[in-house]
Amino acid sequence: MGTRLELIPVGEWNIFPEGKAPMLIAGPCSAESESQVMQTAEGLRALGVNVFRAGVWKPRTHPNTFEGVGAPALQWLGRVQKELGMKVVTEVAGEKHVSDCIKSGVDMVWIGARTTANPFLVQEIADALKGTDIPVLVKNPVSPDIDLWIGALERLNQAGVKKLGVVHRGFSTGEKSRYRNEPLWQIAVELRTRYPELPFFADPSHIGGSREYLHELSQRALDLGLDGLMIESHCDPASAKSDAGQQVTPEDFGKLISGLVVRKADSDSPEYKENIDQLREQIDVIDENLLSLLASRMNLSRSIGKYKKEHNIAILQTSRWDAVLSQMKERAESYGLSAEFVSAIFNAIHEESVQEQNKILSDDSGDEN
Ligand code: PEP
Ligand code: MN
Repeated sequence: MGTRLELIPVGEWNIFPEGKAPMLIAGPCSAESESQVMQTAEGLRALGVNVFRAGVWKPRTHPNTFEGVGAPALQWLGRVQKELGMKVVTEVAGEKHVSDCIKSGVDMVWIGARTTANPFLVQEIADALKGTDIPVLVKNPVSPDIDLWIGALERLNQAGVKKLGVVHRGFSTGEKSRYRNEPLWQIAVELRTRYPELPFFADPSHIGGSREYLHELSQRALDLGLDGLMIESHCDPASAKSDAGQQVTPEDFGKLISGLVVRKADSDSPEYKENIDQLREQIDVIDENLLSLLASRMNLSRSIGKYKKEHNIAILQTSRWDAVLSQMKERAESYGLSAEFVSAIFNAIHEESVQEQNKILSDDSGDEN
């Protein structure tokens, strides 16, 4: 369970231009050189992008790879602020990074996926940010652990950071996938539902791991109603020292953004409202029916549990369940439902039934023997 977060609305951060949706953050994976930073930022600025990202300290999987230029690169970000009037954001992974960013006047920071996974480091960052006003974006932890993500938000919030947002960059699941990191959108949706006022960005660059997926992933994020996108852009992606395959030129970034359909959160049209309200009411009725059917099913299952107990029969008969499940999956198709969906639902129902029957088995109060 997450606690309540005390937040300052993103409109009051003085970072993103008013009324522009989605909010955009773009820039290279890493700040590599002064000219690369300036050239990329100029290209993005010309497209109307106001918030420039660049990694100064890079957490790399393998040693002896480019780990960022470090603090000297902060001066280049200073030039982007002064000469182009852009806001700048970089990644911090510890107290020293935070103090360097404060000294050089970085506008906003983000906490990377590997750092969010480490409560000691998140606490260190939170403590270092005490008393400052710098907005912080928290990327999801590498593993699909929503509580670890929420815990990081809580640590920062308890240290007084109220300008908080999140970045969904996908998860390592160990499953083989065409994406670098599995989107597991349901986790984003769950966090969104728990904290609807938390500014929510998607990072399709790190989810996809390849520029070919940027469009589909960005569109998906917008369709889910997320507030913004963080996308890696490099003036010469082929020569990038990190994440070369997923970066796009500012020009391609512009094309990508103009090809996205931005959906409205709601509509004022009375006709739309009336129709959607009717459909939602129908859904509510069906949901109520589903609940009542589930309850009836569970009651039957408890009766079976009692009967099994009386006859000293084991609860789990896997062969019966396998047969039921495969029949359901077959039937799913004729209802226009996917086999995965149906098997997920029925497995959840079955698991609960087994638990209920187990309770009956271990409950001696009604036992007549
Ligand atoms: C990055 O944004 O360049 C980065 C390192 O991201 P993540 O923490 O999501 O891997
Ligand atoms: Mn990167």
